[in-house]
Amino acid sequence: MASTAPRPRPGILEIQAYQGGRAETGSGRPAAKLSANESAIGPSPLAVEAFRGTAERLHRYPEGGSEALRAALARRHNLDPARLVCGAGSDELIALLARAYAGPGEEVLFTEHGFLMYRLSALGVGATPVAAPEQRLRADVDALLARLTSRTRIVFIANPNNPTGSYLSGDELRRLHAGLPADVLLVVDAAYAEFVEAADYDSGQELAMSEPNVVMTRTFSKLYGLAALRLGWLYGPPEVVDVINRLRGPFNVALPAQEAGIAALEDVAHEQRARAHNAKWLPWLEAELEGLGLHVHPSVGNFLLVEFPAEPGRNAVAANAHLEADGLIPRQMAAYGLPLCQRITVGREAENRALVASLGRFTKGEPR
Ligand SMILES: *Cc1c(COP(=O)(O)O)cnc(C)c1O
Repeated sequence: MASTAPRPRPGILEIQAYQGGRAETGSGRPAAKLSANESAIGPSPLAVEAFRGTAERLHRYPEGGSEALRAALARRHNLDPARLVCGAGSDELIALLARAYAGPGEEVLFTEHGFLMYRLSALGVGATPVAAPEQRLRADVDALLARLTSRTRIVFIANPNNPTGSYLSGDELRRLHAGLPADVLLVVDAAYAEFVEAADYDSGQELAMSEPNVVMTRTFSKLYGLAALRLGWLYGPPEVVDVINRLRGPFNVALPAQEAGIAALEDVAHEQRARAHNAKWLPWLEAELEGLGLHVHPSVGNFLLVEFPAEPGRNAVAANAHLEADGLIPRQMAAYGLPLCQRITVGREAENRALVASLGRFTKGEPR
């Protein structure tokens, strides 16, 4: 007799469920969570106040099109509000783009150490994930173009990328786009755009404004410190926006997220504080960790990819145990194919100093 148990669609059982950055060490003591690239300074107090202000209205459905939030985003970034879609985190938008544009027998292309959600979203819709090799942990435009086939439907590129921290310049991004057939969708995931100071950086916004096959995604989870609320947005061509609006849930963005998001955009001073904090502590951490003899990959985000020696006792696994015993939680990188590395988020001053002190003891082989 044939099995009568319900069977999921092909691809879904290939998904390794996404593991978020750990928040606890298991010791029960408070720990510094440096494992999820969250904001070191937290959200704007105005956003928190706006969030609280929604408590009396929780029995009402939110406005379904995130209209006021889209208007605020459009003002802030000089965009057409009709070409914006808000989502429950950019993760939701990435999944919706995969659902809308890829399926069985088709390919979704990204880079070797690209953000994990691209692979998971492809598998979730039965499409084939294809990873193009990187050059020294950096996206390689030629390698991506070389992997295009007649079945390629979407190219996802995080700019800058998580977990490598590297980015493509505007010229390289445009070269990538120029090499794509018109029916392939280029999704530029600019989750860390607000942190980047490099003059040749490009979030994909210009391409998303002018090209019929480019979408830019953004998030409130990183610089804006609102990860718990799940809030992201995309900007793209009217046809893509129409498709995503048909597919998304009618009330996909919760009321507290909409209202906190609007308030966060208004608090420009807080945004500047978050950027200034990162501009100070990212290079400090990089220099200190290099000073300990660790290899730190250059990053333009709010995190560093730190490479440890391969020897047992000195490797990333040993470093993780050492850091956790000191109440510091980095992100292990084996799931990204980088078993020698840890990804470490820029924290508050005391956390950053504690991290360097702890790794100082670790690299010298001193007891904790
Ligand atoms: C953190 C992150 C996101 C997304 O986050 P949401 O919280 O779902 O908005 C998207 N892309 C990259 C590369 C990220 O690192």
